[in-house]
Amino acid sequence: MRVVLFGPPGAGKGTQAGVLKEKLGIPHISTGDMLREAVREGTPLGQEAQGYMNRGELVPDELILRMMEERLRRPDTERGFILDGFPRTVAQAEALDALLDRLNMRLDAVIDLQVPEEELVRRLSGRLVCPGCQAIYQAQSRPPRVAGKCDACGGEVITRPDDRPEAVRNRLVVYARQTEPLIEYYRKQGLLHSVDGTIGPERVCEQIAKIIGA
Ligand code: AMP
Repeated sequence: MRVVLFGPPGAGKGTQAGVLKEKLGIPHISTGDMLREAVREGTPLGQEAQGYMNRGELVPDELILRMMEERLRRPDTERGFILDGFPRTVAQAEALDALLDRLNMRLDAVIDLQVPEEELVRRLSGRLVCPGCQAIYQAQSRPPRVAGKCDACGGEVITRPDDRPEAVRNRLVVYARQTEPLIEYYRKQGLLHSVDGTIGPERVCEQIAKIIGA
């Protein structure tokens, strides 16, 4: 099963991908997580990407495409994958199609998680993440059991630098301008399925499972 989880920042892509990965036994490939790891490790890619990320801008396509080609060529993608945060521009979507063609693969579904903007801003401003295992919490509605500590791995949970209000505003503008056009791109390919992302994580997950037959 090869799925793209699509939607604005804060729509719930990471949360759903975490559940689907366990359910389907296929890798969750998040460009955001890969870039944050590169930043933590101080690799050349991380050094180049960090400024764009902190401002809430997109990292140039060329860097992303090189990173994704290498990732999708790894053998663990043979049975499928869940893409989260990629593609984010039409150029990335076209490059993904070309790459999958070369690898003799095809996408099965693109799931568009729909959440209104006020709700996205509310979610992102209260979001806490665990940099160690990528678990996601919500300060008000779904806090960790022990304040500041990840339930899953005990690591320290943090607020992402790009979840600060100025960066959030920028990310939503960037999404509307550069990423939203992909909805039409995938609708034309007959791959797009829209899911209401406000009905609670469990019900969103049920809807996705129904669409992909999991
Ligand atoms: P995310 O965790 O998906 O919200 O991504 C965090 C940040 O990483 C984004 O705001 C971008 O700066 C960068 N990023 C992640 N994925 C991509 C992508 N496919 N293309 C360009 N930049 C990306």
